[in-house]
Formats: sequence, C-alpha cells, structure tokens
Amino acid sequence: MDKQELTCISCPIGCHLEVTNTEQGYVIRGNQCKRGETYAISELTSPTRVLTSTIGVKGGFLNRLPVRTNSPIPKDKLFAVMEIINTVIVNAPIKAGDIILKNLLGTGVDLIASRSISE
Ligand code: SF4
Repeated sequence: MDKQELTCISCPIGCHLEVTNTEQGYVIRGNQCKRGETYAISELTSPTRVLTSTIGVKGGFLNRLPVRTNSPIPKDKLFAVMEIINTVIVNAPIKAGDIILKNLLGTGVDLIASRSISE
C-alpha cells in the first residue's frame, strides 16, 4: 500500500487528504465532501491547473494584460504553454473574456483576457 498526503484545492477550506493506493483503488480520508475525492484521484492520475499569467499590450493605458486559461490544462504542458504565451503581444482595446489564443497545444483550452484594457 502506497500512502500520500495532499491538500484539496477545490475550495478555500483546503482539507488535508490522506490517499492510500490499495488493490481495490484509491481510498481517500480527510475530505469533507465528494469533491475532495475527485480532486485527489485527478491529482494522482492526471494533474491539471488553470494557468494565469500576463502578456504584452500595445496601444493601451496599461502595457501588460492579465490572462488565464478558461479551463485547467495538463500540468505537464504548463511550461510549453508559457513559452507560447511569452511571445504574444496584443493590441488594445481588449475586453475581459476575449479569446487571446484558441486550443492551446491541442488541449481544447483557450487563453482568455482576465480584464479589459482600453486604448
Ligand atoms: S474536500 Fe470538499 S470541503 Fe474539503 S477542501 Fe475539498 S472541496 Fe473543500
């Protein structure tokens, strides 16, 4: 049996999870709700994260635009996606929610603007 400890990040409570890998599957303790179980299994089998960053803006009242992915992406693709994001510069005006890049690395996830920036 293989034991691991995790902190559930699905809500601000942050339950301390103890996960045991048994022949019958994962046994999760410490979660206050079902989402903790889902989080633990996902984290151990295919971890994902929402990526947040900033990109350059031309012609706006700010020169950096906060961006994020509209869904979590596989953790092992974060650095490759950052390399792409670091090359992107957009022109103002930008509206919050505008799609900056579609289908990042074939994940089906888009990069979107987290705020508006006017000219
Ligand atoms: S297990 Fe449930 S209550 Fe605990 S941190 Fe995760 S989502 Fe929140």
